[in-house]
Amino acid sequence: TYEWSEDVQSTLKNVFHIESFRPKQLGAINSTLSGQHAIVVMPTGAGKSLCYQLPALVKPGLTVVVSPLISLMEDQVRSLTNRSIPAKLITSSSSKEETSAALNVLKDSKTQVKLIYVTPERFAKSKRFMANLQKCYADGRLQRIAIDEVHCCSQWGHDFRPDYKYLGILSNMFPNVPILGLTATATASVLTDVQKILNIPGCLVIKSTFNRPNLFYKILEKPTSQEECVTILEKLLKGRYKGESGIIYTNSIKDSEDISEGLRKRGLRVGCYHANLDAATRSQVHLKWHDKRYQAIVATVAFGMGIDKSDVRFVIHHTISKSMENYYQESGRAGRDGLRAECVTMYRMQDIFKVSTMVFSSVGSLEHLYGMVKYCLNGTLCRRLLIAEHFDETWGDADCNKMCDVCCHPHSNTKEVNLKPHCKTL
Ligand code: ADP
Ligand code: MG
Ligand code: ZN
Repeated sequence: TYEWSEDVQSTLKNVFHIESFRPKQLGAINSTLSGQHAIVVMPTGAGKSLCYQLPALVKPGLTVVVSPLISLMEDQVRSLTNRSIPAKLITSSSSKEETSAALNVLKDSKTQVKLIYVTPERFAKSKRFMANLQKCYADGRLQRIAIDEVHCCSQWGHDFRPDYKYLGILSNMFPNVPILGLTATATASVLTDVQKILNIPGCLVIKSTFNRPNLFYKILEKPTSQEECVTILEKLLKGRYKGESGIIYTNSIKDSEDISEGLRKRGLRVGCYHANLDAATRSQVHLKWHDKRYQAIVATVAFGMGIDKSDVRFVIHHTISKSMENYYQESGRAGRDGLRAECVTMYRMQDIFKVSTMVFSSVGSLEHLYGMVKYCLNGTLCRRLLIAEHFDETWGDADCNKMCDVCCHPHSNTKEVNLKPHCKTL
């Protein structure tokens, strides 16, 4: 135990109203509270935010949280405020007054505010912010710097953001202030790169497992015509997934419209969701799905944030994701309640080209797509093993428990594996 252990437990229960930590959360909290630089690697939804929100309340001073997405920051500040934890944010869309108030907090030694959320470009583009942050540090009130989605530093990651490279100055500028990076990207090359960019080589890496034992993974051979795709989906929704909730991911707005339309014509209750719909329509679709008035949502990856439905029984990919990271995250929306759920990917070779024309945004993107293709083409190895390997996880003796198509049908068409995915049965 540490001097802060009692405070940590009571804050968990009384402020966050959480009964117990999830795996690795306490380890992460203890190491950052003891002043070490660390990177926390946990799947999306595992509870990374708690690893810096809780320490922020246990020790005096301010925690600066760097986050890439304004909507995420707003969500967090709202939920902290609901728990009576004073927090502020500075973004490009903050008003002058909001920005001033937040900047003053950095200088004010009497402030009640515990966390300030900022976007990464503040560190390069706002002299006033940096001057105030310096003052905060000089007064000994800069408790910790948390960097969310820290893989955005690395060009090898799947979501490189140029503004993140400015964060490399922090460890030199503010010695003795612990940096806590958080990400769901676990590949060794990205983690090493992130440490290099942040100037915290060899820092502690705290990683929880990515295995989701209740998810069944399988690949389906995807037909050439959209009509036949709709037929497969119809069969699944009327048969195997009858009465259950799920998501069908497509890779374009047009596909999501065509497929939802096609399924509706065949008497299914499905919604369509993509970025071109206005906010009101989107939240209505989301709500109808949440209330089970829609069985499924046919969506682009724009449907992702704020999904808090725990009984999603199936996630079907009508087109492969652009990387295993994306696939893991999208398919991972299934089975949050811990009960069995299925992650189905419809694969055909033409889709590689369709997706590859969209992925030239960052250096490693074709390589990332290749990882996804390898997962689909594989016909002999456990899909769960491939996911584990992708996240640099040692598989050891952990067992699939026949929770993937390959382990389920180990002897089907082993000769044609490269072309004929397993599990043709719907
Ligand atoms: P991540 O950033 O890893 O994707 P979040 O920090 O957004 O995940 O947390 C996801 C959800 O899990 C939140 O609703 C959070 O309140 C909840 N949560 C976090 N830790 C725990 C815990 N130990 N027990 C129960 N719920 C938790
Ligand atoms: Mg998060
Ligand atoms: Zn398996």
